[in-house]
Amino acid sequence: MGSNLTFVIHNYTTIINIHMGNPYSKERRKMAERNKVELYLKDVFERECVYKIEREEVEFIQTGIETIVQRIANKVLDNDTLQESMKIKFAKYFKGKLIRSPINIFGVGSFYEETRNNFPDEFDFILTLFCCEGTFEEYKQFLLEASVFNTVADTFSQKVKELSELDKDALLYTAPDPKCARKLYFDKYLRQHGPATWLRFIYESKSKRKKEIDVDYVAALHITDRNVLNQIVNESCVLTEFAQETLSVGSCFCIGANFSLTQTEVHIMRNVLSEKHRQIYRILKYLINGHGDVEKLDNLGNFDKPYSSYMIKTVMIYHHFNCKTFDTVNFGPCILDVLGDLCRYKNTSEFPSLYKLDYRTKIRCDLCLLTFLRTLTDSLRSMQRLLGSSYDYERDKVKESISKKYLDTLGK
Ligand SMILES: [Zn+2]
Repeated sequence: MGSNLTFVIHNYTTIINIHMGNPYSKERRKMAERNKVELYLKDVFERECVYKIEREEVEFIQTGIETIVQRIANKVLDNDTLQESMKIKFAKYFKGKLIRSPINIFGVGSFYEETRNNFPDEFDFILTLFCCEGTFEEYKQFLLEASVFNTVADTFSQKVKELSELDKDALLYTAPDPKCARKLYFDKYLRQHGPATWLRFIYESKSKRKKEIDVDYVAALHITDRNVLNQIVNESCVLTEFAQETLSVGSCFCIGANFSLTQTEVHIMRNVLSEKHRQIYRILKYLINGHGDVEKLDNLGNFDKPYSSYMIKTVMIYHHFNCKTFDTVNFGPCILDVLGDLCRYKNTSEFPSLYKLDYRTKIRCDLCLLTFLRTLTDSLRSMQRLLGSSYDYERDKVKESISKKYLDTLGK
């Protein structure tokens, strides 16, 4: 699960990642003329990161996915047998009431953080089964016996599979305007991965071009009690700013063996980070992992770890709260700062986390892309010393992501 203001599904806030004319001032162009790295990073952002489709197409996909995901959620939550069997499991741990929350679908992950690159083809949702009137101690005891949640996740996943495949016709979304030929529909259940259920959707454009869209669906308990939240924040958050933002969001989740502050992550990436820092994060994701190169690396099942988007995001959030650059225009100084931070860690146990480790075990793995990351940092640093006058994107670009370069050395 990627990371989470949790975003309320009915609030169809438009995500405008489409390049709208030239947002750069004269001053910026003048700076860029003198500095190659600025021209290059601006190009990486515009060519590789922004969505290549129209804003109304993004809106169609978002509305379609949210509509169908809510229909599936309703089917799951309206299922009395499932509700009862889950209630029995939770009631053992919580003395207070188990309430069905009025809002039960929360959009999280890169789409809702407004940091997804290239195409909106991956959506993450949290489905809250119940809101429990529990104490902090009750929640902690519940987390210690994470196996309870594993059985809940298994049951949930099986139910989603069964109910979504039962009546596929109901899981189709078309535009309100009958002349619009676009459609979006549920295709199949892919698999369960830890607490997450993966579903595949198909988007068909006006020109009948089909595109797969994956949805990651996680069952959770919703925690809204102020006292419980205060205690979770005190026990979990490393950064004061992160703790404050969690309290301003006003709720969090309990997923698997952890409290999840993924709503806070969405809120910070979307509303707290500066536009420049958000763009830098997207550029870094592309330079390090390309479009999907890191997934290929993950699929090899090697013990050594590449840099996940989540790890880059963590370092980016630390950078944002400690950034000493008051320059709001140039990318170079901040991106080199973040890369400098990333290059300091040799293994996962040295790597910073937003959370104290109470509920997490940390396995020490070497970071296998470190050498490549240092080379990338050096090449951007040397670009920063060059004039932009002789710059050419196709000729000067870094040809492959560092994940891809590493894959090449493995002969994959
Ligand atoms: Zn900065």
